[in-house]
Amino acid sequence: MIQVAVNGYGTIGKRVADAVTLQPDMELVGVAKTSPNHEAELAAENGYPLYAAVEDRIELFDAAGIELAGTVDELVDAADIVVDACPSGIGAENRPLYEAHDTPALYQGGEDADLVDTSFNARANYADAEGADHVRVVSCNTTGLSRLFAPLEEAYGVEKARVTLVRRGGDPGQTDRGPINDILPNPVALPSHHGPDVNTIFPDLSIDTLGLKVPATLMHTHSVNVQLDPDADGMPSADEVRELLAEEDRTFMIQSRHDIDGAGKLKEYALDRGRPRGDLWENCVWTESVSVEDDDLYLFQAIHQESDVVPENVDAIRAVLGTADAGESRERTDETMGMGL
Ligand code: NAD
Repeated sequence: MIQVAVNGYGTIGKRVADAVTLQPDMELVGVAKTSPNHEAELAAENGYPLYAAVEDRIELFDAAGIELAGTVDELVDAADIVVDACPSGIGAENRPLYEAHDTPALYQGGEDADLVDTSFNARANYADAEGADHVRVVSCNTTGLSRLFAPLEEAYGVEKARVTLVRRGGDPGQTDRGPINDILPNPVALPSHHGPDVNTIFPDLSIDTLGLKVPATLMHTHSVNVQLDPDADGMPSADEVRELLAEEDRTFMIQSRHDIDGAGKLKEYALDRGRPRGDLWENCVWTESVSVEDDDLYLFQAIHQESDVVPENVDAIRAVLGTADAGESRERTDETMGMGL
């Protein structure tokens, strides 16, 4: 049994912790938190051993009546691997702690790529993480794009990708984020950081990205143009691309009969089907949007920023420890989580 620690029990951390408990080959040693808020109470209610992330805050947990199993130091020591799901930049500060215990660590997309041995996406470069000590599971947007580019690259070759990312202003719980009433080119200067981030997974891919931020919290939406390799043997039809994408385990092809016109209905769809927290782990591609004009492919996809990286973290654990190959790991993760809509 792989002993997994989760350091940082917020939006990503609590989802990863839940997913780890579903895995037949993993055990959650515990989760570390900085403050005794409602999420700390949730961890306790779930029976997850709770560790203090910051030693001089232990008394706050005592005062709140929340029992601690120990400090983050002890948690890391007891684990085979740590999933660091702390806010951007804190993962880098935590790296010496993991090194001191010789415990391999996964970091999230908010960390710099040069913090780690390799960036990771289960569909695109699983094997690169084997035996690595420090691995970054790429951001929600980069995960969504990597899952899309991997099959396109394999089937047709990609000459050039151009993506406009319409990004949610903040997560539903991030009351300090915005904009509230605006549409912001973000960043104004091109390219946005997303293209270079995709290149941490596909080093040779030619990609330009533009970003916007909008007053929405539910999901991101990508407007994608992929110029397929003109030297390939004939261009695929739109239907052939649809069939290719439908084969992908972490892609949900939205059909016109679903009558889903945006993120609101997508979330409703997930909630109606009993998904925990209404999570959509899959890329959500509008089937009707898939179009091929000469050698250009176009489509829209929606990405649930709070959850698409969760199965990727589970797979990255097995990749780092070398306990399963990519296919086996993805299949086990998908089956236990209930992937597929
Ligand atoms: P979050 O703020 O929801 O959760 C972070 C948690 O870590 C909080 O509970 C916070 O109290 C805790 N924390 C703060 N300092 C800590 C410390 N020193 N030790 C332990 N815990 C500490 O953040 P999040 O949205 O879950 O993001 C975490 C990482 O995941 C970031 O790198 C982010 O870029 C990345 N990510 C976020 C999203 C998203 O949309 N939310 C998507 C993909 C990747």
